[in-house]
Amino acid sequence: MAEGGCECGALRYRVTGEAYGSGYCHCRICQRTSGAPAQAFARVRADQFTYIQGEPAIYLSSEWGQREFCPHCGSQLLYRGREAPHDVAFNTPTLDDPGLYPPRQHVWYGSHLSWFEVKDDLPRTD
Ligand SMILES: [Zn+2]
Ligand SMILES: [Zn+2]
Repeated sequence: MAEGGCECGALRYRVTGEAYGSGYCHCRICQRTSGAPAQAFARVRADQFTYIQGEPAIYLSSEWGQREFCPHCGSQLLYRGREAPHDVAFNTPTLDDPGLYPPRQHVWYGSHLSWFEVKDDLPRTD
């Protein structure tokens, strides 16, 4: 079990069980919504992720997915696919122990920023 939350503390969540995927997402939507060159995430079933305090605001970031974030401080916590709502990806740097669920791959690497040089050996997909 792991817990995490937003920067201001209004929104708290709990994750149970194993993640079945984790990585860095280099897509343009993650770059814009996070303000960072890539977003680290872990993928779990929707029933493994529970908000235990506060209600997230929702941004419909594309036809197929939404971002959930704190309405007070803006921290982005979660991606939820609308066509596959059984599956969510939460942003691992928001965990109380951000060393849990380390990234295992790079996704959307085709849009990675040219000045953000990745020197690990993790698999990369566009
Ligand atoms: Zn907050
Ligand atoms: Zn992304």
